[in-house]
Amino acid sequence: MPETLTSPVTGSPLAVLFDIVAASARLTLEEERDGAETAAADHVYAAYPDTLGRTVEHDAWTGFPALRDNSVQPSAVAHLGGGLWLHHTITDDADYRDALTLLVPCTCHCGYVPSLIEDENDLQELLRELRPTGGRAVHRGDTGGPYCAGIPAA
Ligand SMILES: [Zn+2]
Repeated sequence: MPETLTSPVTGSPLAVLFDIVAASARLTLEEERDGAETAAADHVYAAYPDTLGRTVEHDAWTGFPALRDNSVQPSAVAHLGGGLWLHHTITDDADYRDALTLLVPCTCHCGYVPSLIEDENDLQELLRELRPTGGRAVHRGDTGGPYCAGIPAA
């Protein structure tokens, strides 16, 4: 009677192999997190030298590994204060572009309004709009404008 079905794997080559793949999976997650933080920091330094590059420290970024099932790329977020967040990822389409999004809490308190930021001018324009409200996006769910419901507040 073969005992393959019941024998414990502890100490066996198989157990060691499982440990190896578990360790490498952990390492991959670490690398993706670190890579996401570095990519975000590098991007704002390079593309936003007068604004985010001066105000968002490298260690402000918190990286997240890819979500394989949803094919979500590694990403990183940085809190700007006042409940506003920056979100950075590299798009997985052909040209692997940096995608920087500002998440602004909505006046309805139900969620965030995301704004994809194209460049520094774009960001400054957005900040000028937000300044009078202290960093709150005006709820415009009825107008089909930027809509908060897609990103519920935690
Ligand atoms: Zn809203």
